[in-house]
Amino acid sequence: MKVSNFEIESLVKNNIREVVDFPKAGISFKDITPLLLDPAVSQRILTALIEYARPLNLDAIVGIDSRGFLFGPSLARALDLPFVLVRKKGKLPANTIEVEYDLEYGSASLEIHKDAIKVGERVLIHDDLLATGGTAKASAQLVKQLGGEIAAFAFIVDLAFLNGAEQLKTFAPSFSLAIYD
Ligand code: AMP
Repeated sequence: MKVSNFEIESLVKNNIREVVDFPKAGISFKDITPLLLDPAVSQRILTALIEYARPLNLDAIVGIDSRGFLFGPSLARALDLPFVLVRKKGKLPANTIEVEYDLEYGSASLEIHKDAIKVGERVLIHDDLLATGGTAKASAQLVKQLGGEIAAFAFIVDLAFLNGAEQLKTFAPSFSLAIYD
């Protein structure tokens, strides 16, 4: 769903570094680290995420390992909400549930602490970038298993030509600040 405005989209695109053939040949990696070097730029990105999330009547923000941890905690704090971590397998110390999902080659697992979300809580799932949607979908499955409701997904970048939002729409709408068609 394209609700971003042109100004913020340009700001994101102008401050992203595209690294070709990283981490392997054929991938154009969208490096968001330059956004973080400029506090004025990262503040505007955070503000745009806050404006989107505020009316959603949320109970928590869920961030995906690891670049969902860059803006996710600030977003949660701005809205006075808990921040919940979805992490790669083996990183969370207490009782977890796990979901396995397919990668282009092989599979990976994500985990969440069992006590991080309570039944009926409305959450926003956040990551830096939506590609195929596999990672966000797996995160949504974890939230659902704990009885949470997904209000929306929010990304900084959507590689829309990979149709990730399509994968997610059975759970909730997706919002992105910058879309690459
Ligand atoms: P996917 O599960 O295919 O939607 O992939 C999303 C995850 O992989 C996110 O955590 C992104 O940070 C990362 N990712 C995938 N493709 C790219 C890319 N071209 N540039 C930067 N990060 C990417």
